[in-house]
Amino acid sequence: MMKPDIELLANRLAEAFGRARVKRNEILAKHCNWRVGGPADLFFRANTAEELVLAARLAKEHGRPVTVLGFGANVLVSDKGIRGLVILNRAQRTAFGPDAVVQADSGTNLAVLAKQAAQEGVAGLEFLIGIPGTVGAAVAVNAGTRTEWISGIVRRARILTSEGAVRWLAPHELDFAYRNSRLKRTGEIVICAEFQGKPDSPERIEQRMAEHLRVRQNQPTGPSTGSVFKNPDGDFAGRLIEACGLKGLRIGGAQIAEMHANFILNTGGAQARDMKALIERAKTEVRRKFGVELEEEVRYLGEW
Ligand SMILES: Cc1cc2nc3c(=O)[nH]c(=O)nc-3n(C[C@H](O)[C@H](O)[C@H](O)COP(=O)(O)OP(=O)(O)OC[C@H]3O[C@@H](n4cnc5c(N)ncnc54)[C@H](O)[C@@H]3O)c2cc1C
Repeated sequence: MMKPDIELLANRLAEAFGRARVKRNEILAKHCNWRVGGPADLFFRANTAEELVLAARLAKEHGRPVTVLGFGANVLVSDKGIRGLVILNRAQRTAFGPDAVVQADSGTNLAVLAKQAAQEGVAGLEFLIGIPGTVGAAVAVNAGTRTEWISGIVRRARILTSEGAVRWLAPHELDFAYRNSRLKRTGEIVICAEFQGKPDSPERIEQRMAEHLRVRQNQPTGPSTGSVFKNPDGDFAGRLIEACGLKGLRIGGAQIAEMHANFILNTGGAQARDMKALIERAKTEVRRKFGVELEEEVRYLGEW
């Protein structure tokens, strides 16, 4: 039996979007790269920025927590699932303006955006080609490579505040840091973002994109979240975990990748608790051997 306030929210969402689009107890493993995670009380796929804003506002009005999911490429969702409303964000309108300015809805696939930018002769977004995920999450977690971060190209981001207001935030207000921004603290939702590129020829941009993809060929394949831990100052999490002899270690269906010790793979049938247990084991061993406290890059969602 659902709690009455969730029932009220389900009804309001159904009135706004149609009953068939509001799902109860949707298993989130289907929507996350690691293929683990339990049910969402309520689940809704937003196809436009307007739907994203309306659904999030309705949840707030009913006092229920709201969680936005992009591709689930950077999250560990608990086996117990997520309470409240989960919005799968597929708002993906893009617009190319003068002076190499690009606007993209927060559910836009980063790889699609990079390819569109190349076709339009807009350089600077090439590095996004190899990062699985959406624009909104990339802004929230300041996604990037070793040399380029999304914070370097953001002109401003349109956000839904915790009070339900819509505001544009400038980069200094977004408070970007290594795999971090104010949005991770506040839970504000990115509706869309505006990027500043540079004009260049599509051919040169495509060559650079191909190079970004080539570098990634030595990454492990299979269900993962990319790097599980942030790199500590002056070192690499993968090197430290490998030096503890943990490469290949398995718990349940979860395994520290043989190819890269900062990746954990779901080799089949893993539970979220297996992932969490491997994460804790790696942290404990690295702390014991090196006195270094590893910090997760992956975000925990739901009830732990
Ligand atoms: C093989 C592989 C390689 C990777 N390589 C890289 C890499 O090189 N660099 C890198 O930075 N990352 C990398 N990642 C991690 C991941 O691709 C990025 O973190 C990406 O930004 C996640 O996007 P997503 O849409 O899947 O986010 P999700 O996992 O869906 O969400 C991540 C977090 O952002 C929040 N969020 C989602 N949408 C919004 C929104 N609109 N507004 C506010 N918050 C939101 C979620 O609630 C969650 O807390 C890699 C992952 C994989 C699987």
